[in-house]
Amino acid sequence: LADKGYFSQPDIKDTIDLGAEPIMPKTDTSSSEKKGIFNRSLFKYDANKDIYLCPAGNELQNRMQVFEQGKYLDVYFNHIACRDCKIRSQCTNSKKDPRRIRRWVHEVLTEEMLQKLKNEPELMLHRKQTVEHPFGTIKLWMGATHLLTRGLKSVGTEISLHVLAYNFRRMITIMGVNGKRLAKCTCQ
Ligand code: SF4
Repeated sequence: LADKGYFSQPDIKDTIDLGAEPIMPKTDTSSSEKKGIFNRSLFKYDANKDIYLCPAGNELQNRMQVFEQGKYLDVYFNHIACRDCKIRSQCTNSKKDPRRIRRWVHEVLTEEMLQKLKNEPELMLHRKQTVEHPFGTIKLWMGATHLLTRGLKSVGTEISLHVLAYNFRRMITIMGVNGKRLAKCTCQ
């Protein structure tokens, strides 16, 4: 369970390939709205026909494949429909090219994950209560200040010590100390 800051399609596939089931919300990274054109979410994918249905109700076919940012993407468009489209100015800023929709070749993995999250919204609440809680507590113990070290290796060690201390305190809270006395910490 992760929050949307961790959304990464290659990571989702890698996690599934390892035999685990990732769940996280998707960030809307589409720049279409900023450009003043239809958001990608308005284009509906039809898996049976392998086409996108655009806001004007036309079918955009799978025409080519590209490799971008480490991913294979299918590209969907329909030259003729876009050329004659009455709402073209709301859909693309290009004078001659049709609107193109890119789809990651493993997009179905993302879709299934998002559908599961939609069906079970309590999963994110579960994450808040289990995953975020320790970080909030550790931050509070640290006095909501910065880490003392710099660099991945040193920060990793510092955080590991915080987590170790957290786990000890958590175990003591849950299991008690069975009559044993704890040595008084001299570092505080
Ligand atoms: S411009 Fe093309 S993709 Fe956009 S709504 Fe019109 S036909 Fe559909």
